Amino acid sequence: MAGEERRTDKRKRPRTCVGCGEESPKRELIRIIRTPEGEVRYDPTGKANGRGAYLCRRSDCVALAKKKKALSRALKTDVDGVVYDSLIALCTEKDGEGRDVTVEK
Ligand SMILES: [Zn+2]
Repeated sequence: MAGEERRTDKRKRPRTCVGCGEESPKRELIRIIRTPEGEVRYDPTGKANGRGAYLCRRSDCVALAKKKKALSRALKTDVDGVVYDSLIALCTEKDGEGRDVTVEK
C-alpha cells in the first residue's frame, strides 16, 4: 500500500492557491514566478522559467496572500506589496463579476 509513489499526470494535477490553500485546476489560477533574475511577476503563459506559485484569480486570495506574505514564502524571496497590488488589479480586471473575459480571435 504505502511505499510506491503514485504517478500522477503533472499537467492535470490541481495546484494549491497560496492564498486560501484550496486546490484548483491550473487554468483557473494565476501563476506568479520568480525569474532567474530575481524578479517576481505574473506569468500569463504558465510556462515561463522560474520558481512558480499559484493563486486563485480572485482579489480576495491575493489580499490574503499579501497579508500572510505567502508569495514571499512560496517563492523564497522578498515580494513587494506592489506586486500583490498589481495582481489584485489583474483579478478585478479579468474577474468582472460574470462579465465576459476578452476573447481573442
Ligand atoms: Zn485561493
